[in-house]
Amino acid sequence: MNMDRMHEEKREGRKAPQTAEILAVGTELLLGHTINTDAALVARELNSLGISVLYSTVVGDNPQRLADAMGTAFKRSDLVVTTGGLGPTGDDLTKETVAAAAGRHLVLHEESKRRIEAYFKGRECGESQFRQAMLPEGCQVFPNDFGTAPGCAFYSENGSLVMMFPGPPSELIPMLKQYGVPYLKRFSEGVILSRMMRVFGMGEGAAAERIADLTESENPTAATYAKENEMFIRVTARAASEAEAERLCEPMIREIRRRLGDVIYTVNEDGTSDSCLENTVVALLEEKGWTFGAAESCTGGLLAKRITDVPGASDVLRLSMVTYANEAKAQFLGVPEETLRDYGAVSFQTAKAMAEGIRLAAGADLGIGITGVAGPGGGTPEKPVGLVFIALCDGEHTWVRRMDPPGRVKSRESLRIRASSIALDMIRRRAEGLSQKPTEMFEASVPQGVAAALASLK
Ligand code: ATP
Ligand code: MG
Repeated sequence: MNMDRMHEEKREGRKAPQTAEILAVGTELLLGHTINTDAALVARELNSLGISVLYSTVVGDNPQRLADAMGTAFKRSDLVVTTGGLGPTGDDLTKETVAAAAGRHLVLHEESKRRIEAYFKGRECGESQFRQAMLPEGCQVFPNDFGTAPGCAFYSENGSLVMMFPGPPSELIPMLKQYGVPYLKRFSEGVILSRMMRVFGMGEGAAAERIADLTESENPTAATYAKENEMFIRVTARAASEAEAERLCEPMIREIRRRLGDVIYTVNEDGTSDSCLENTVVALLEEKGWTFGAAESCTGGLLAKRITDVPGASDVLRLSMVTYANEAKAQFLGVPEETLRDYGAVSFQTAKAMAEGIRLAAGADLGIGITGVAGPGGGTPEKPVGLVFIALCDGEHTWVRRMDPPGRVKSRESLRIRASSIALDMIRRRAEGLSQKPTEMFEASVPQGVAAALASLK
């Protein structure tokens, strides 16, 4: 009996799944001993295929609860993907339980049995190993090229699609990529195309609110998500051809742009790595033929590091200095000693003088100054950890942006990344001729004495 061919017949004429639930099986996940990275991996792949993951569940190695969870998943999703519990040991119950819940018997898959024998060649292979070759009748088998337990895909008696993968990521990842994704891709005759919109300067919550109704759309879909300090919107369309998918995405992208405005700094193909803020900045400055210099304090050179990670950085970055000590700020950047004395190193005035000083020292078009309290120590009530001033000078104007401490404690690293991202975004906004609005935020929230000093600077 050729199970794969049987499965192909069953699959004939079936629609591609639109919605999915991930069911990770393993008591170690519930105990917190193992982090559920499998679910994240599966979710990413499914989403990028345009299948919406509606639920992600974790259940222990308990047949009754697993059967219940399967029952629930069948009711609410077209596709159920399980991870874990395919191995040879007594607690590996996924296949038996899932097959039963789907109304299917397990049958011996000869080829998997042979593979397991071959895997153990020369070593002792207990009978229990062959349990792994018992698979749901009429399934498509996914061979395990990095272990013993095969995975599979099959239909439940009620027509739901089930896919099962082994738990260890070293087995799940290659199986998913090599067999799982191509299996799902064969459903769709056309293409699936994604565009990634990247946002800086607006939180995920605010952005998601503005485009809430758009995320209800089915083709194209629009989904927001955030990683530390960054926020993305992925627009995905399915269509018969790439051009058609582009045509579907285009009005959605235009509408999102209209609603969010210039906080969107780039729109790229999904998965390209050359689309972060630093790449955008290098490309923009190259286009303008502009250069910049950077004087950093609390970011310790992170801005320069991020820029020099980008090929072509030598055309745009002329000089970078990490001026940590007050004396260095005075000596190399010409920050007036009175400024440091009267306002302190972490101040609007010092950031401004740093940006202006480094611009001259570098002989560049733009100057950036960053000064702040990165923590974890060193904060005061007046100047708490996380307070950073970031200045940009173009020779005519100097804009200073104040980065307020986040509402919750953040690591030194995270504060530095955010401060350097703000600096990059200020350069981007200047190069694109956009306003540097955040300055007003600073003015609105400065203490009285500083506000007066600020007024006198104008
Ligand atoms: P094996 O043949 O190794 O027993 P299996 O498919 O039966 O594989 P499990 O027994 O459930 O899988 O898990 C084996 C190991 O895989 C776990 O100890 C854990 O290290 C890892 N693992 C299982 N599930 C996950 C998950 N959801 N995310 C990350 N790692 C996992
Ligand atoms: Mg196991």
